[in-house]
Amino acid sequence: MTGAVGFGVFSPRGESPRVGFRVAGGVLDLAASGLGHDFAAQSLNRFLALGRPAWEDVVARVGELVSAGADLVPLEEATVHLPFEVADYVDFYSSLEHATNLGRIFRPDAEPLLPNWRHLPVGYHGRAGTVVVSGTPIVRPYGQAKAPDDAAPGFGPSRRLDFELELGFVVGVPSALGSPVPATVFRDHVFGVVLVNDWSARDLQAWEYQPLGPFLGKSFATSIAGWVTPLALLEDRLVPGPPQDPEPLPYLRAPGDWALDVELEVELSGTVVSRTNARGIYWTMPQQLAHATVNGASLRTGDLLASGTISGPDAGSEGSLIELTWNGAHPTRIGDGSTRTFLEDGDEVVFRGRAGEVELGEVRGTICPPAAWGRTYGRSRETTSKRASTTRGSN
Ligand code: MN
Repeated sequence: MTGAVGFGVFSPRGESPRVGFRVAGGVLDLAASGLGHDFAAQSLNRFLALGRPAWEDVVARVGELVSAGADLVPLEEATVHLPFEVADYVDFYSSLEHATNLGRIFRPDAEPLLPNWRHLPVGYHGRAGTVVVSGTPIVRPYGQAKAPDDAAPGFGPSRRLDFELELGFVVGVPSALGSPVPATVFRDHVFGVVLVNDWSARDLQAWEYQPLGPFLGKSFATSIAGWVTPLALLEDRLVPGPPQDPEPLPYLRAPGDWALDVELEVELSGTVVSRTNARGIYWTMPQQLAHATVNGASLRTGDLLASGTISGPDAGSEGSLIELTWNGAHPTRIGDGSTRTFLEDGDEVVFRGRAGEVELGEVRGTICPPAAWGRTYGRSRETTSKRASTTRGSN
């Protein structure tokens, strides 16, 4: 379907939210389409729960309506909402290039990949309640941080705020507690994909993450596109993934081609700073789903499972600033002549994705200054100034 983007929830000017299908020229109002189903709902969840036959039927009929020139709500008259109620949010770490880059940055004298990385899709459970729709302002988070040379941790706004370019998949059909979901039934449970920006405060993250992993450095906000692109429109973009060595354990074997050929780009305050492709991700979506449920954990409608930062092998294909600038050592230049190590207040980050004739919904966010309340917590002047100079030095 040329110009197709995906399903989401929107309000035509002055009207209540309802389900729509976004195409290049506007939004098809599914509540007014006569297609049946509960498309007057304020989230996609009920549609997601219907399962694959209903999804494919609706996609086909939407295609017919669009081809027949159905009326579209102009984009400028459509307010876009969070497309689904996010049940649980999982974030993986499935790009070999990203994991290798971070290993080299943080453990320069050791093997970049930790011993488990090629045996299972490493991941963590994130915070579903702070997943926000594209366009939501991102307020710079406060938190505790301690640079290596600081005597003690200090409190303040993050000074190393970053983005992470990711592709997430959205679960429609739930599963029962105690029953793993094999990689082979991925299509029966997963509705589609959505671009994700897993905003990351690197300074908070670096101080808090051991031994239990990401926490407040990630949970302040995660942005997703307003439109979920159904797998049914991406079948011809499934291609062979990278070779996996060693061969994964049997529960992680997924027959067929499961890498998704989606061209991706990152724009930072008007300048494209990275281009890559999701097909290079080492662990595939069915493998991620199988792994996330192999212990018997159940799926819920609205679960969001994201790939982890997508980085390619070449310069200019990294999916985060910490990689693009090599932890701040090599600032990135943007169009107005200024440079960035990490994000500054006022910066706007836009992710875009294209899969042939299908365009993924973009995910956009602008960094706002930290909220005033944080100043009341303060910290000793000595710690503040010392941390400030350390941060500059490491940039
Ligand atoms: Mn991430």
